[in-house]
Parts: sequence; structure tokens; C-alpha cells
Amino acid sequence: MHGLGQRAPLSRRAVLGYAGIALVASACARGTPASATPPAPTVQPRPTVVDGPMPIATPTRVRAFPPTLTPVPTIPPVLSPTPPIVPSPTAPPSATPAVHAAPPTPAPTTSISRSGGTPRLSDVAQRTPADVIAYLEGRLPGYPGSSPEWVIDFSPSDILETMDTIVLDEVRQRRGDQALARIYDVIAQDVLATLRDEYGDRWIVVALDAGHGGKKGFNWDPGSEGTEAEHTRAVAAAIVRLAARPENRRIIVRPIYNDAIADDFGLKPPRNRSTVNTTLMRQARASMLADEAAAWNRAHPNPSDQVAVHEISIHFNVGAGGALVLHQGDTVRPEFAERSVDFAQRYLRRVTTDLNATGLLPSPLGLWNGDGLHDDVMMYRPAALSAPLSGATLRYGALQGHGYLPRFIAQVLANH
Ligand SMILES: [Zn+2]
Repeated sequence: MHGLGQRAPLSRRAVLGYAGIALVASACARGTPASATPPAPTVQPRPTVVDGPMPIATPTRVRAFPPTLTPVPTIPPVLSPTPPIVPSPTAPPSATPAVHAAPPTPAPTTSISRSGGTPRLSDVAQRTPADVIAYLEGRLPGYPGSSPEWVIDFSPSDILETMDTIVLDEVRQRRGDQALARIYDVIAQDVLATLRDEYGDRWIVVALDAGHGGKKGFNWDPGSEGTEAEHTRAVAAAIVRLAARPENRRIIVRPIYNDAIADDFGLKPPRNRSTVNTTLMRQARASMLADEAAAWNRAHPNPSDQVAVHEISIHFNVGAGGALVLHQGDTVRPEFAERSVDFAQRYLRRVTTDLNATGLLPSPLGLWNGDGLHDDVMMYRPAALSAPLSGATLRYGALQGHGYLPRFIAQVLANH
């Protein structure tokens, strides 16, 4: 059995906290169940030292959207003076070095609608490691001025650990594939409904990650219980499918994962860490969406045309016994962190209610550790980063704080 029943005897908060840390530890470990390798007590104390002197703000960038919601105006929309620079989704980037030597050709695809219309965002999932290196070096056409700083602190972001992976496996065993598909759809529906709650009738671009996975035969990471990646992909597919419903007409979903592309920047072992490669690929793609949205917003100042960006990463857990959302911490700009926490609270309320109402779970789903919330400081030290990291605080890369990503990017660029 899994779920709250198992947790009940652990009545003291301190015990709950430690149990949670230990159990969650392997949630993102590469195919290693928690019970096989209990994590060493190397949990980072909180609060801890911020990693390096990376600046919080990128002053030359225009942000994707203002921090507060703006009402729909009654004035007629204005003609946008310049079209936004949006890479054509019909022209996937090439992995060959030749494309990087070519002069930037950021020609827009078509003339832009005078009064908004549907924002156009490129299919960033097609971006390759070579594209990402060019992007980090400021050489990728369509993203003038891009730099490593763009890959952090660019939007609100949440990692959804809605339940333990083994619960999904049990639903499939006991009730079959249709019941499991129903669970996937409830999760997907609630992600979309929470976004509508959070942003009202604004355009929302969802940078969507399905946790783990990768290119099979190269770096496939099955995630917890050996099935997590399969479940995260199914939920992501349900989100894409349900986003086509009329009530989600203002939600634009763009996957940032792509299992057809090998996430490899050519580093040599032991620096070549596949999970970090994958994180960098996905974060770079998500930040491209943020830049495209910012360009759209500059060209479409009418408040009803403005686009918000929210990054969502789908995961499942090991032994947490409840729903958990990892939200942004104190090294991203406050308006992003506030959105992240607010989304987490709304989502947790909605999804626990709706999943319990299905009657399909083996036991009622509650909230991990009382409120289901945890910030971006890693709950354990991943095996891939076992070497000492003096002065570093490990943070979940998908939450855009100043964790290990900046120094990994430096390694990638130095190697290139
Ligand atoms: Zn995971």
C-alpha cells in the first residue's frame, strides 16, 4: 500500500520531514528505486549559499509580461510598428555547423495581424544541442543578444509530482489501461484549468516538460519504478490533446522535451552528465519561448494581446505518499516565484479533489508533508553530482534558480 495510510504512524513533523526527504530523494534518480539505494544524509541545509555571483536580473531584456494582470481595454488595437522575430516552425533548425556560420536571417514568416491574432511560437522541441550552443553564444538566428543568463529566471515554473509512480502502476494492474488513461486526463485537465484560473483570459504559452526519457539507445532515463517516464509522456500527450478544447483556446502548449534528439554537448566523462545535458536542452528551449513571447509582446502592446509564459514539468514520485509540487525559490525574481507558489497551491487543491473523486486510486490522495509544497533546493544530492561542490546549493534546474546550470553551461562553452 502506498499513500496516507502508510504515513499515518509517522506523526512527528520532524520525522515526516526527514521521511519525505529520504523518499523523495530518488524520485528523479536515474532508474534507481529509493529502497535500493537509500540516500546518504547529505541533504543541503536551508537556507544555503547562493551559487556564484550570477546576476539576478538581466537588465537589457524586456520581460515577457508585466507582473500584474491587465484588464482588456476598450480602445481599438494599434498597428504593431515592427513584426516580431519568430523563427519559422516549418523550418526546423539544422544540426550542422554550417547553419551557425550563416548570417542571421530572422525574417518573419508572414505579415503580422494588426490586432493581435494568435501568437506564433516556434516548435522549440526541434532545437538540437548545436542550436543550443549557438543560442548560448548569441549566434542563433532569431534570438539576438541571447546568453547563458537567459536560461535561468525567465518565467514562472513548477515541477508537478502529483503522486507516487507506483500508484499509477497499481491503477493499471488493478483496473486496466482505461482507468489509467482517466487518471492521466484528470491530471492534464487540472493543469489546464489551473492555468486558466491563474492567468484569466490572457494568452498563455506553456513550456511543457515530460520528466526523464531521452533518446532510446542513447540516454533513455525511465525514471522512478522504471515507468515514470512513460507516465509523464502520457500526461504531456493528454495536455496537448486537451489544450485543443474551446475553453483552452488561449493556451498554447509547446513541448520542450524531444526523445528523438540525443541530448549531448560532447563533454567528456565524468563531466558529460546526461541528466544535466537534458535539463540544459529543455531549459534553453523553454527560455527561447520566453524570448519569442517577449518579442510578440513588444510588437503587440495591446493588453488583450499580451502573452504570459509558464513552465510546467510533469513528474511522479517515490514513496512521498501524497501530492507534491516543487516551486520556485528565492533566487528568481519575486513575481515569478509568487506565480509559481500560487499555481502550486491552486493545482494541489484541484487535483487532489478531482483524483479522489474518480474512485480509481487505491487510497485517498493527500498532500505531501501537510501542504504539498517544497521549494527549488534539491532534497538530495544526485549520484551524478557526487563530487564535492564547495559553496554550491543544488537547485532543480527546471525551476530556473541559480543552481548547477550556470557552471555546467560554462563547461559546455569552454569545451566547444
Ligand atoms: Zn521524476
